[in-house]
This record gives sequence, C-alpha cells and structure tokens, in this order.
Amino acid sequence: MIADVIVLGLGGMGSATVYELARRNLQVIGIEQFPAVHARGSSHGYTRIIREAYYEHPDYVPLVQRSMHSWQQLENQSGVSLLDRVPCVSIGPESGELIPGVRRSAAVHRLAIEDYSAVDFQAIAPMFRIPQDWRAIVEPRAGVLAVESCVRTYLHLAQQLGAELYFECPGVDWQIGSDGLITVETESATFTTRRLILTVGAWATRWLPTVPLTVMRQVQHWLPMPTDETWRTTDFPTFLLEAPNSYFYGIPQRFGSPGIKIAQHFGAPELQSPAQVDWEVREADFSPILQAVNQYLPDLQATPIASQVCMYTISPDLHFCLDQLHGAANVWFAAGFSGHGFKFAPVIAEVLADWCEFGTTQWPVEFLRTSRLAGS
Ligand SMILES: Cc1cc2nc3c(=O)[nH]c(=O)nc-3n(C[C@H](O)[C@H](O)[C@H](O)COP(=O)(O)OP(=O)(O)OC[C@H]3O[C@@H](n4cnc5c(N)ncnc54)[C@H](O)[C@@H]3O)c2cc1C
Repeated sequence: MIADVIVLGLGGMGSATVYELARRNLQVIGIEQFPAVHARGSSHGYTRIIREAYYEHPDYVPLVQRSMHSWQQLENQSGVSLLDRVPCVSIGPESGELIPGVRRSAAVHRLAIEDYSAVDFQAIAPMFRIPQDWRAIVEPRAGVLAVESCVRTYLHLAQQLGAELYFECPGVDWQIGSDGLITVETESATFTTRRLILTVGAWATRWLPTVPLTVMRQVQHWLPMPTDETWRTTDFPTFLLEAPNSYFYGIPQRFGSPGIKIAQHFGAPELQSPAQVDWEVREADFSPILQAVNQYLPDLQATPIASQVCMYTISPDLHFCLDQLHGAANVWFAAGFSGHGFKFAPVIAEVLADWCEFGTTQWPVEFLRTSRLAGS
C-alpha cells in the first residue's frame, strides 16, 4: 500500500496530526518508536496549561483560540474529560517580560484580563506571597489539559477512522525516490508514502539537522495539597511566575495527578540530543523549587510526593518551528516547541494537514517558519 501521508512520531503533535489527516479521509500511517502514550518524550506528567493572553507573542492568540475550541470539540466527540477550565495568573514585576507580554496580547486581541496590585491579589489569593511592587494578572479563559488522555484519545479516534498506527517501531531513515514517492525505513518494516510529516519532538535534533534545536531536561514535581482553611475555601489557579532570573509555574491537582504540580520553566543546560538526558530524578532537582515555594507559596509543604523528568526542545528564539523541509517538496515538520507547545496540538495538526492536502493554510503561522532563524 502507498499511504497518502506518513507521520513519524506519535506524541503530542503526531497524535493530533494522524487524527486530523484520518478525519479528512486521507490514508495515514503513524509510526512511533515507543509504546503509545509513553513517558520518554515531552507529552507526559498528567497536566498542561492552556492560556490565551499569550505573553510570548500576540500572534499565538488566534492559534490558541482555535485550539481551545478544538479541545472542547474533541472532548464532546470522545466523551473523555480532557479540559478543565481554570483561571491562569501571571505574576511578576512590571519591568519583566511576563506582565508586559500578557498586557500586550490582551490589548491587541481585546482579551478579558484582571490586573491586580500585589495587595489586591493577596486578598483574592491569600496562599501567595509576592513582592509589593509586583503585579498579578488573572485571565479567566484558561484551563488545564489532561496531557496523556489527549494523546490517547487522538490515537484511538485516528485508529477508528482508519489510520494504521505502529508502536515500538523506531524510524531509521527516509528517502525520496526518482518517482517522487517517499520510503520510510523502520527497524522492522519499510513503508511507502506520497507525503511525510516529521513530529519527532526532541529527536528533531537528529531528523532536522538544518534546524538549530537543542534539548533541555526539565523536572516536574507534585506537592501535597494543604488541608487548611485558606486552601480549602480558595480555588488554586494555574500560575506563571517570573522570578529574578527564572520562571516557575504551578497547576492545581487535576486529572488524577498526585498533588499540585510545581516546576521551573527552563533554567537547565542545553543539550545536543535526547541521548544526553538523565532520566533519574536527583535530589538537587528540587532545590530551585524549594526556594520558590518557601518564598512565594510558604504554606505548601515543600516535599514532593512525586517527580518526573521530561524534555523541552528549544529553538533559538523559543518560538515554534513549522515548515516544509528544505529541498523536499512533500516533507513537512513541526518541532522546537520550547516548553509551551502542547496546548496548540490541534491547530498545529490542522496546519500540517492543510500543507499536505492543499500546499497552503489559512492559519497565520508565517511567523513560525524557520527562515527567521537564518544565521542562528
Ligand atoms: C515538564 C513539561 C511541562 C510542559 N508544560 C506545558 C504546558 O503547561 N503547556 C503547554 O502548552 N506545553 C507544555 N509543555 C510543552 C509540550 O508538552 C511540548 O511542547 C509538546 O508536548 C511537544 O510535543 P511533540 O509532539 O513535539 O513531542 P513528543 O510528545 O515528545 O512526541 C515526539 C514523538 O516522536 C517519537 N519519535 C522520535 N523519534 C522517533 C523515531 N525515530 N521513530 C518513531 N518515533 C519517534 C517520540 O518517541 C515521541 O513519542 C511542557 C513540556 C514539559 C516537558
């Protein structure tokens, strides 16, 4: 059989893409090196934040709005609980990157936000202790995604729609023949396709040698939910916090997670490949969290119930890399999600499917093309 499209890598982006292609009645083959929904890539750890007033760049806002809609549709269609509406609070100094970035996206796209002084924020969220001259911006249209359930649901629905998915089937190489057909060689079989999509996460450092990407080890920790009055009567939001020289985030206990998730965003060495990642959790991994919790959330018991290693794939400007592979008309890729990509999986899948089907897309993703990185 000659497939219309092969998708290599079935994590966050690849699972959404096989679903989207199968939904469009294309003959799809999906290939994954590990078992379905594994914990050796970037899409595990119970939960992911979805937020709209995107401090990273206002151009992401229409994309996240589309994704929010698509996650809800997926939830309705599958009957699986995938998205919980939880407000997101961005906390930091006026002079930082986070607070001005949230305000900018909210202003450009006329998004509802509530902008609090530290004193006023303390009154509505008494569990936080933040410096008097910081701000806290609450965005109500945000939420928490059940990361593994999202991937599992996409894979399941894609199979129901006729996608052929192969797990524990590492891709080894691919080639374009003189007839324009593409062969994808795996450790156990060779497949033929008209078009190829590479959604290989951190392994893009190997499969996309011309895109300047690195890998960053990240450790997510879960802390016990306090039982005192304040925590029982006040809903704990998701939060991003810009501390001096570091970002932290937190996610309330949802979707079977063992506690409140707290982690540092970035702050680890950049590595050349996933093979260099240490998958053991070390005692030292918790020290930045300990400091942040003691300072900003002092009522939390700063002993993790559980901790887990995960990977970011980092682009030089921390924006995503979506493009056609240079010199290969029928090969596209999505990579370099730099620790903030999961929420966008549905719209990334639409873009990749549009490129395969029509060669173009209506979604505004030109700012994510890799030509911007020339010289990086
Ligand atoms: C700790 C942590 C917290 C995060 N928090 C958030 C958040 O709150 N909100 C948010 O939006 N984003 C968040 N992110 C980022 C987001 O999770 C990632 O950007 C996203 O999951 C990346 O998906 P992916 O498909 O690119 O990678 P992956 O999900 O890793 O998928 C890549 C897949 O390709 C497979 N593969 C690779 N090579 C081969 C091969 N040769 N053959 C076959 N298969 C192959 C891999 O096994 C893997 O399954 C977080 C990331 C981490 C690590």
